[in-house]
Amino acid sequence: MQALMMNSQLMISSILRHADRNFPDTEIVSVTADNPRHRHTYKDFANRSRQLANALVKLGAKFGDRIGTLAWNDYRHLELYYAVSGSGMVCHTINPKLFPEQVNYIINHAEDRFIFVDLLVVPLLEALQAHLPKVEGYIVLTDEAHMPDTSLKNVMCYETLLGEESSEFEWPEFDENTASAMCYTSGTTGNPKGVVYSHRSTLLHAWGGSMPDVVAASYKETTLPIVPMFHVNAWGAPYASLMAGSKMVMPGPKMADGEALQHLIESEQVTFSSGVPTIWLGLLDYLQKTGKNIPSLKRVSVGGAACPRTVIERFKHAHDVEVIQGWGMTETSPLGSIFCRKSGMEDLSEEEIIDIQCMQGRGVFGLEMRIVDENNNELPWDGVAFGALKVRGPWVSSGYYGMSQEPGSQGCPVDEKGWFDTGDVATINPQGYMQITDRTKDVIKSGGEWVSSIEIENAAVSHPAIAEAAAIGRYHPKWTERPLLIAVKKAGEQVTTEEVKSFLKDKLHKWSMPDDVVFMDELPHTATGKLNKLSLRKTLEGYEFPN
Ligand code: ADP
Repeated sequence: MQALMMNSQLMISSILRHADRNFPDTEIVSVTADNPRHRHTYKDFANRSRQLANALVKLGAKFGDRIGTLAWNDYRHLELYYAVSGSGMVCHTINPKLFPEQVNYIINHAEDRFIFVDLLVVPLLEALQAHLPKVEGYIVLTDEAHMPDTSLKNVMCYETLLGEESSEFEWPEFDENTASAMCYTSGTTGNPKGVVYSHRSTLLHAWGGSMPDVVAASYKETTLPIVPMFHVNAWGAPYASLMAGSKMVMPGPKMADGEALQHLIESEQVTFSSGVPTIWLGLLDYLQKTGKNIPSLKRVSVGGAACPRTVIERFKHAHDVEVIQGWGMTETSPLGSIFCRKSGMEDLSEEEIIDIQCMQGRGVFGLEMRIVDENNNELPWDGVAFGALKVRGPWVSSGYYGMSQEPGSQGCPVDEKGWFDTGDVATINPQGYMQITDRTKDVIKSGGEWVSSIEIENAAVSHPAIAEAAAIGRYHPKWTERPLLIAVKKAGEQVTTEEVKSFLKDKLHKWSMPDDVVFMDELPHTATGKLNKLSLRKTLEGYEFPN
């Protein structure tokens, strides 16, 4: 029997209509390259998004066309999110911090027809344009007064384009499985791969992510998404905030600037923010150095890499801010699991709660998790068994753009049972809290036992003289591999190998203790700011443990 309910398609434009009708006065505050503090409301934003949709039609962009963006978190980028997807085109966000040859590859692979570019990123495209034959025009995200003198061909000014258009536009209705946005993984090996989101996956992800025990998106909140809109849609904040009516504060190019972030949080009374651990370390150091505060901030979500314990402790003790650690990937939109308190936790000590915050959190409805052994057999959730983490659900990728989806091929990330292999190794405890111990390819296997590199790194960065640390496995004649710790000292600090080892003694099991500690001036990172262990292993290829 068929149900008798409306078969309304889940459309990104419906979020915009909802925000326009229900929260017309909610503010969006942005820092941009041409304005240190731009303010407008959801009503203005909805009008401008419709103007932009008309401008896209006038440019000749068609249903299904890829429209590239190279931009920071601000209101114009948000308008692109809604106008491009809302009119049936694909909003292809590109990370301006990637290597130029990767940006070049990604734009050509996606066959972007037009690129909307931030003022600060114009030089990158000037250098690349000769290699981008399919791009028909470049639109600089600024007004006439700030238009740069540029060699970009067929260049247009964003505000001039919008200014010529009507704010009336009827958002089209179409199949909710239509592509809405694209984001390429950074690809430490091989070329970046294009993840393609749909209207349906985007709405379900934003809905799932808004639940009270996830990020609790709310009309009462003022949210500062620091995680970039070019990296997995700023973890869904641009959609969840408009669904809920949260005031948005957008840091523009200032996302790694402790002073600017503190000022934004204080002056706009930000209550919730999201970002990767390095951003928070930078902000915490700035606050410690200056004695400044962030009293309005209540919660921060942290993900993208394991959150060091010291970030959780410093936020709690110095600023009374709760850290909500989440795990996810570009292919999971990105929300996979997230920390939440459960009843009964009131009886735990602060240390015990921090232990749980250091884990990667619990499953969110909409995304199923499991851990499996080498033969793809499911392992128990006993907090002891380690295995490859696999996931499935309506916001998980089933393939990559332009790649064969034949089972077993590179473009097909899904196994024969329909599960996506995350490439992470994890353990899950009986309460459902998951803990990532490594990337599959970074696992240290010593004498047949797995040693968690993340556990060693987290313990090492809690040393007051250590700024950053990486643990990798190196050849050992008896144990095949043993952990080697590579540490970067904080500016002006001194510490020796023996001091670090004795500091780690009561923090790690004997088996996880690194056999040696070496110091480097800096560690290699990927374009998304993650430790590049592949490159580190290459650098240390000839390394041998002291006898
Ligand atoms: P990339 O483009 O570098 O692949 P992703 O954001 O897709 O960027 O990276 C996803 C990976 O980041 C995960 O598979 C996992 O290894 C790591 N990661 C994300 N969040 C966490 C976390 N909270 N703790 C540990 N690792 C994490």
